[in-house]
Amino acid sequence: MSFSKSHLLGIEPLSPTDIVTILDLADSYVDLNRSAVKHSEALSGLTQINMFFENSTRTQASFELAGKRLGADVMNMAMQASSIRKGETLIDTALTLNAMQPDILVVRHPHSGAVDLLAQKVNCAVLNAGDGRHEHPTQALLDALTIRRVKGTVTGLKVAICGDIAHSRVARSNVQLLSKMKNQVRLIGPSTLMPSGFESLGAQVFEDMKDGLRDVDVVMMLRLQKERMDGGFIPSEREYYHRFGLDAEKLSFAKHDAIVMHPGPMNRGVEIDGELADDINRSVIQDQVEMGVAVRMAAMDLLVQARRVRDARGPEEVMV
Ligand code: ASP
Repeated sequence: MSFSKSHLLGIEPLSPTDIVTILDLADSYVDLNRSAVKHSEALSGLTQINMFFENSTRTQASFELAGKRLGADVMNMAMQASSIRKGETLIDTALTLNAMQPDILVVRHPHSGAVDLLAQKVNCAVLNAGDGRHEHPTQALLDALTIRRVKGTVTGLKVAICGDIAHSRVARSNVQLLSKMKNQVRLIGPSTLMPSGFESLGAQVFEDMKDGLRDVDVVMMLRLQKERMDGGFIPSEREYYHRFGLDAEKLSFAKHDAIVMHPGPMNRGVEIDGELADDINRSVIQDQVEMGVAVRMAAMDLLVQARRVRDARGPEEVMV
């Protein structure tokens, strides 16, 4: 097996081969999830703990379902109500859970880097379910799987990522993945929401939807991350929608068969027109949700397989 990673903390450490390995296995899990009996034994007898220090609807449900479909015992920790509130540090919480011998920890945290830190303190596989504005690797992988299944490839495409780039871990992970897979990435948004440094990854920056969307194959819309803003980044939501909200008129600048994506949760009428979001001829937003379960199954399966290979080799050959 070519996948040898201990954790899935971001897209940054993955090679194109790692990415393709995850997507290929996820494809087979899409088939399983569409069959009458959606069960495999890949994680049978293993314990998966989901620790979400930030609210989540689809990601937490998706990881829970993914673990259950692979036969793991899945526990969701209500972190908002946990000892963290009583002053326990993240590391103490991690060490406490580690002592319960989990095999997989799925962690979402509001601080960038918190999941990496936690991974250094535990013995099991850690998956980053989103850390601050840093990375959200399973989102980028599910987006890649969605694109690959609709477009037949996830290489050589023009992809526009639009909106609140500055506060978005989805943008960061997607820019990494799409660049590694040799796509042309365009970032479109107001200058107040556009961080510097993306050009070094090969992304082109636009402040105008008409210019940025010209001839793209994929349009990825992002939510305004108000919870990460500590000031006025946009004049008003109305003005923002007028300039950057995706509607049929702006989409007409893209290729005639361009697809529309959004990681959710969506603010209809702020970053995307509600009717367009529901248009099954253009929007693949529900496909993204479906692919999410399959990608998370594949990622957890591969991490566990890699760990088994390492354990079988013995301590001298353990890879970091
Ligand atoms: N669900 C995604 C995330 O957790 C996108 C968003 O919240 O806007 O980053």
